[in-house]
Parts: sequence; structure tokens; C-alpha cells
Amino acid sequence: MLGNEADFEVQRERLIQLIREKGVRDERVLDAIRRVPRHLMVPEEYRRHAYIDHALPIGEGQTISQPSLVATMTELLALQGEERVLEIGTGSGYQTAILSLLCRELVTVERFPRLALRAYQLLTALHFPPFVLVIGDGTCGFPPLAPYDCILVTAGAPGRVPPPLLAQLSPHNGRLLLPLGSRTHQVLTLITKQGDRLFTRTYGECVFVPLVGKYGWQPDETTL
Ligand code: SAH
Repeated sequence: MLGNEADFEVQRERLIQLIREKGVRDERVLDAIRRVPRHLMVPEEYRRHAYIDHALPIGEGQTISQPSLVATMTELLALQGEERVLEIGTGSGYQTAILSLLCRELVTVERFPRLALRAYQLLTALHFPPFVLVIGDGTCGFPPLAPYDCILVTAGAPGRVPPPLLAQLSPHNGRLLLPLGSRTHQVLTLITKQGDRLFTRTYGECVFVPLVGKYGWQPDETTL
């Protein structure tokens, strides 16, 4: 029967197989994906597409990210389970749920209150580990709980890295992963901080909705 829980489970396993074939090998990441019911994080009309490897609309002009990209980004953070992580762009809460299973402390920031509250209620109802939800502009980071071992930005930033995020990154192998580039295309960029030195590596092209805020795109720059 299409649409029942067992059926979603089968579809989720197929998706995990696909993500494996795309090169994600970290079993902890794959297992976290197995534990997150993505079909509950999309609007009802998209539920039957929830385990296709695509971004889908979630309201407010935003999208739930493509699962293989979520997996790749999570793997790049190389979480060991003891980290304090800052996520910018809660959206549906899909990436938030995965991170909550893989780190010790999680702070997530979303600029749309409606998305933030929906994600918070859903993840709490599903008994994911607790996290701190901040409604506001994530380009400013969240200083009260800094420094962060990892910062993950799930929206596309213009060419320049928001300075507050670099400032709030731990100097002890802190990792900042963000899509950097134009309004329509970005390059997945990993910045590692060792003391006062920064090391940058890039990992292919990606497409995210814009990061809108003081150190991101301005609202009037986001229409195509
Ligand atoms: N990881 C999310 C991605 C959602 S899309 C998911 O898979 O559902 C990116 C999100 O970033 C959107 O919800 C958007 O509203 C949010 N966003 C964009 N700019 C932001 C900012 N400056 N601060 C916080 N959130 C922001």
C-alpha cells in the first residue's frame, strides 16, 4: 500500500543505498538518515516524494534540502559526538534532526518564525535529542553559546564569509561549512580554523536558497 509507514521505510532504505552510491561512507551519518522520517517534514502534498533525492518546497519560499547533499555535508563535518554545533537555516528541521543525533550540543537559527516553530514542535514530538532554537539572523551567529566546534550553513552565502561565524568558530580544529557563491550557484566550502590560521577547501557546486541577513544577501537582492 502506497503511503503507509512500512512503505516509507522501504523507500528510505532505497534512498540510503543511493546516498551510499554517491560516495557517503560514514555509517553514523547513514544511520542518522535512517532515523529521520523525512515524509513528516514536508507538506502533505509532497509526502509521497519525500524519499526522492530532491529538494522540496516547505513554505515561505524555502526548501527542505536534497538528502544526498545533507548527507555529504554532515559527513564533511566529521562529527565524533562530542561537538557543540551551530546550524544556520533550520527550515524543515531535517538537517537539525540528523545533527542532533551526531553531536553533544546543538543550536539552530532560523529567520522565519513559522518554519522554526514547526520544526521545533515536530522534532520534540518525535523525541529527537534536545537543541536550542533561535529565531533571528544566523549571519550574526549566536554569541551567547560560542565558540562552536562546527558551524553548518544550509543557505547560500554571497562570496564573502560572514565575519561573525569565523569569530565564533573554535580555534581547535573548528569547521565551518557553507555554500559560497552567487544567488543561483554556490560552491560547498569548508573552512578549518587552527589557532589563528584558516584553511579552505572546496567540494563541488551546489544550489541553495539564499542566506538573507546582515552579512548575507539583502532582501531586495534575492529576487531573480
Ligand atoms: N536544512 C534545511 C534547509 C532549509 S533552506 C532543511 O533541510 O529543511 C535554508 C533555510 O535557511 C531557510 O529556512 C531560510 O529561511 C533559512 N535562512 C536563510 N537566511 C537565514 C539567516 N540569515 N538566518 C537564519 N536562517 C536563514
